[in-house]
Amino acid sequence: MVILHSNSALDQWLAAAGGPVHFVPTMGGLHGGHQRLIRAACGAGARVLVSVFVNPTQFAAGEDFTTYPRHPDGDVQQAGAAGADAVWFPAVEHVYDDANPDHTDSGGRPRIEPSLIRTLCGPWRPGHFEGVLMVMERLLERVQPALVVMGEKDWQQLTVLRQCLPALREKRCRLLPVPVVREEDGLPCSSRNCRLGAAQRRQAALAPQALQDAEAAVQAGERRAAVLEQLVRARLEAAGLRVDYAQLVHPLTLQPCPRLDGVALLAAAVHVGPARLLDHRFLLSRKPIIAIDGPAGTGKSTVTRLLAARLGLLHLDTGAMYRAVAWLVLENRQPIGSGKALQKLLETMELRLAWGDHGQQVIRINGVDVSDAIRLPHVTATVPRVAALPEVRQVLTRQQ
Ligand code: AMP
Repeated sequence: MVILHSNSALDQWLAAAGGPVHFVPTMGGLHGGHQRLIRAACGAGARVLVSVFVNPTQFAAGEDFTTYPRHPDGDVQQAGAAGADAVWFPAVEHVYDDANPDHTDSGGRPRIEPSLIRTLCGPWRPGHFEGVLMVMERLLERVQPALVVMGEKDWQQLTVLRQCLPALREKRCRLLPVPVVREEDGLPCSSRNCRLGAAQRRQAALAPQALQDAEAAVQAGERRAAVLEQLVRARLEAAGLRVDYAQLVHPLTLQPCPRLDGVALLAAAVHVGPARLLDHRFLLSRKPIIAIDGPAGTGKSTVTRLLAARLGLLHLDTGAMYRAVAWLVLENRQPIGSGKALQKLLETMELRLAWGDHGQQVIRINGVDVSDAIRLPHVTATVPRVAALPEVRQVLTRQQ
């Protein structure tokens, strides 16, 4: 494990890395959540770099910049134990050497889509996300990693960076998000947790429980955001926590959702003693839809079947549906292309997917069991051309 301080030491290490670099940016005070990120970054012959930098530009006046937990020796030890190859401790002047904190792009537009910071922490921490974007842009510019690993614990931060950080937008770097890692009492691991006394800790642990109660209300049929938000707020306040917000938003746009329809993010920020803590839960009003894509012959169907069985979801083999239409086109000796004949075929087609006694998939088209026939080589060869026809896509997407 190498410890890096200066820019030149970092540059030398990067030059010697001899392969892709996977990067885990942190503010230190490392804990089990950070270690999960580091473990996720390991593999594929990559060298794993962890940065420890308490970024001044993301703290407003009166926030805890000076008292933020700093434990460099512990950070090195924890990073090494999780598999990091190097820990980089940049100094403020190494990151902000050009002293040009500009929050707008070259056209004078704000660099963060304003709607992303109108909800959740945005109004409570003015300038925070601009500071996060600024530091991440500079760190990525210097490291140029193939992959950056970040936590879902800071969901709004992750969403802002995913949508606004040039290296991610332009796909110069991949992003690997990691789900929230929690302590035994359910509290998300956080550098600030170490500041809590035993009683505050018990109080804080009521936050994840309040979110869980909201989830139970959803399972009992509640869909109204105002009711779910009030339920969480009331629980938190009853626990003696000062609440900044409890808000239901769309997970990608971060816009408020008046009702839960599909999937939404219920997030809360609270103050306990000296710490401000965040937590969230995804709420679903229906079972999730998971799409698995990839090149032919890589085991998509097998993985999907196993995953569906494991999660108790319905397995919908959309590939088989396209194969069945290809089989029908061939059976009708029709030319492959758009036109009246295809239109008629699609209008009159009856496609049924069912599951046999042993869980095997049975696919019928116009009453004919084509489960085996759709796997024949001449059908396989035809599927891509049939699947590319817009009419076919439209009809099958609707049916799916
Ligand atoms: P921080 O040091 O708090 O700035 O966090 C550095 C990275 O670790 C960010 O991408 C965080 O989202 C992530 N992280 C922090 N705590 C957790 C956690 N409990 N679970 C998952 N990721 C986390």
